[in-house]
Amino acid sequence: MTKKTIRIIIAAVLAVLLVVVLRLSLKPPVEEQGGPRIVMGTFARVIAVAADSKTAENCIKAAFEQLATVENLMSAYKEDSELTRINNQAHLAPVKVSAPTFEVLQRSVEFSRLTDGAFDVTIGPLVDLWRAAHEANSPPNDWQLRQARDKVGYDKLILDADNLSVKFTVEGMRLDLGGIAKGWAIDRAIKTMQEKGARGGMVDVGGDIRCFGLPPKGKKHWLIGLQDPHEAKDALTVGKPLLVLKLSDAAVATSGGYRRFALIEGKKYSHIIDRKTGTAADSLSSASIITDSATKADALATAVTVLGPQKGLQLIEKIPKTEAILISPPPKYKLTNTTGANTYITQTHR
Ligand code: ADP
Ligand code: MG
Repeated sequence: MTKKTIRIIIAAVLAVLLVVVLRLSLKPPVEEQGGPRIVMGTFARVIAVAADSKTAENCIKAAFEQLATVENLMSAYKEDSELTRINNQAHLAPVKVSAPTFEVLQRSVEFSRLTDGAFDVTIGPLVDLWRAAHEANSPPNDWQLRQARDKVGYDKLILDADNLSVKFTVEGMRLDLGGIAKGWAIDRAIKTMQEKGARGGMVDVGGDIRCFGLPPKGKKHWLIGLQDPHEAKDALTVGKPLLVLKLSDAAVATSGGYRRFALIEGKKYSHIIDRKTGTAADSLSSASIITDSATKADALATAVTVLGPQKGLQLIEKIPKTEAILISPPPKYKLTNTTGANTYITQTHR
């Protein structure tokens, strides 16, 4: 073989390699869906966009595993969860907990400070009181309300970062992570998907959603419908969306009385409680928060439901890269939002 022939062969091999590499890199990403599965008492769905189906499926599997791990640690309904152990023992002595649970509690206290106690993870005694009232079909009396309120307050919670331990300073205190654990679990699931090679994805737990990266085929953004509280009578009936949000890398969480409530003597009581009054927050039908993390969106949506439209909007306007869309109670169902929210809203159906 002459030198010239060798050069021609090398050039041909390189050309073929180049074509293969180009074809591989131009291959469109695939999209896989997982769920719905029941997680934290609601439905969870995951979408992964990746270079191939195997990667996408791995990401979905890992995301659901993360959701389950967080649920096992932080559920108030599981006898063997870390949260149950804290609630049963932390008034006696400091209870050591895992790093994730400790971090959620630290974040919770941050949100309590930021919202002046509108969000308060120590709301447990009031939640229990109202649950008992629901079962008895009779609202609590003033004395019972005062008793429960005395056991609520994030200032009565001691978090020891050196020992990762939690201590209650008052007997009868109870933590309730219902207003933040979903968001936290979603953030963990998204992180896992990114680590496992997803180029885009979405995790939805009961309407609290975070998405990132490449959206589904043919779309420029992730399109997320916000439920109309006027249409959706409870957490399971999905009515027509009120509006559609276009998101890229963002989270949105919705709180509100219409999703879960208790009927006591024929009156509806939201499951979200204002620790200042000890009673259900009723000045908003729903509050949706759009921001960069699902933890923040979840906690702030609960807080804004307690704060109400005026104070709620005021607070959110002050927090960078965070927007709110609020709907007032029936019969008006009036929609208000922070100015920045308009950039996310694409279609309104009213
Ligand atoms: P949803 O569960 O409908 O998504 P939220 O994220 O607002 O709504 O969570 C509501 C849950 O948070 C309640 O069921 C209760 O467990 C807990 N909670 C109620 N009131 C408060 C409050 N003021 N601060 C923190 N958590 C709360
Ligand atoms: Mg919440």
